[in-house]
Amino acid sequence: MDSVYVHVPFCLAKKCLYCDFVSVPYGRSLSERYLSALSKEMSLIAAEKFAAEKEKENKTALRTLFIGGGTPTALEAGQLEKLFSSIRKNFDFQPGPEATIEVNPATAGPEKFRLLLEAGVSRVSIGVQSFSGTELDTLGRLHSSQDALNAVRTAREAGFEDKNISIDLIYGIPGQTAGSWRRTLEAALALGVGHISAYELTLEDNTPISGLVKSGALRMPEEDEALRLYFLAEQMLGKAGFVHYEVSNYALSGHESLHNMNYWQRGEYLGLGAAAHSFIEGKRWKNTDDISRYMDLLEKDILPVEEVCKLTAEEEKREFVFLGLRTLEGISISTGESLFGADMERAARQFVKEGFLEISKGRLHATRAGFPLLDGIVLRLLAGLGL
Ligand code: SF4
Repeated sequence: MDSVYVHVPFCLAKKCLYCDFVSVPYGRSLSERYLSALSKEMSLIAAEKFAAEKEKENKTALRTLFIGGGTPTALEAGQLEKLFSSIRKNFDFQPGPEATIEVNPATAGPEKFRLLLEAGVSRVSIGVQSFSGTELDTLGRLHSSQDALNAVRTAREAGFEDKNISIDLIYGIPGQTAGSWRRTLEAALALGVGHISAYELTLEDNTPISGLVKSGALRMPEEDEALRLYFLAEQMLGKAGFVHYEVSNYALSGHESLHNMNYWQRGEYLGLGAAAHSFIEGKRWKNTDDISRYMDLLEKDILPVEEVCKLTAEEEKREFVFLGLRTLEGISISTGESLFGADMERAARQFVKEGFLEISKGRLHATRAGFPLLDGIVLRLLAGLGL
């Protein structure tokens, strides 16, 4: 295990209208208590789960670290320092680790970016979402497009290299047109960053935006409109030299997110913080997403783990296919055949004929046309493989 995710569940005063992540408004005393609980969780985990390394007086050495939320940069500078000091106390880093932190454009100035760089953060992921003020309002974001431009410039001035700056964008926003999405993509490309994520807006139950759609106040794009926006991104980013290495992720060659690749390749990872997920030695578990309970348990030296499950052979096979096919590199046919005991090429033949999947160099992967239709393709492929 050499990947760690840390969840910081604090955001600005008001939640974005589409958000169903575990996050609450930032408060100083609450966040202090949370950081202490997080530090306790790290030391308990280091003692319990990695006792073998501990005996040898070694700490687990991380290849990737991802601090997400919430809005980790909602923490004050001193609190971020405290968080990194807890991490360093309990973990070592391998040479040249990828250490990413999510940044909300409304919460990061020069001081925080410099501090992050000094703390060992190698990569920032900035939640731009759109360069249209109207779309940012529809999403209920608290930053403006100018704040997003400033955040990228400030990160760069603080010393983050362009290739290590990633930005998140959202398409399929009610009211978004091909023209406005094109302008957002043009603005994103003009920034010269090394990584762009483009996620389709999904309506989560009980979010204000889903209520507005249900009431008819907002209209979500039809499937074919969303598909057009998807292909516009694919075409513009591809033309600019970005590799479409995962359904929603584009990177200049060599700047893919190693942390996220580890998820899709079913590598092990440890999640720390409320609502964080872990996957180690074939077991998946999740921490409680109740922030108060998370802190109460850790204050009593109890790990806040819920929902532990050992994957069945069937679940492992499903994950192998649906996670692996999300990536450009796809899945190894020989590994698939030994897992399924079935002829993978035969099961995939129809999709290859239809142009949705491709076989090359012993691997099965989605084509340009297949990526956006992956969920349905995976279901049919798994059925063909007897699941
Ligand atoms: S910044 Fe992210 S986590 Fe916070 S409310 Fe908005 S979408 Fe949710």
